Amino acid sequence: MIVVFPSIIPNGYKAMALYPFIFVSEPKGTYVFKLLSKGLEYSKAVGRWERMIAHERVHHKQQKELLFIGFLLVYLYFHLRYGYRHNPMEKEAVHGRKKRFGWTEYI
Ligand SMILES: [Zn+2]
Repeated sequence: MIVVFPSIIPNGYKAMALYPFIFVSEPKGTYVFKLLSKGLEYSKAVGRWERMIAHERVHHKQQKELLFIGFLLVYLYFHLRYGYRHNPMEKEAVHGRKKRFGWTEYI
């Protein structure tokens, strides 16, 4: 379920997954319209939205396989150790989920 809730999203981010919700900073129409006004073509703008939602759905799967609290602990550990971009759970979400516990291959 996608919920528009800008105040819960940390600065600099557009979306956040907390199973079973995906919080986004703005609705799809606003998101796409902003990209169109910057000159991006429609199909690419919609594609960015769809990739963002697919990314957050990977985090849902990670949260389910680690029973949510485990996800929070492991994610926080990786975040402190590797930073956001090199966090193995972010890498799996960026590259797409291939199998259960696929994030372990990015450690
Ligand atoms: Zn992510």
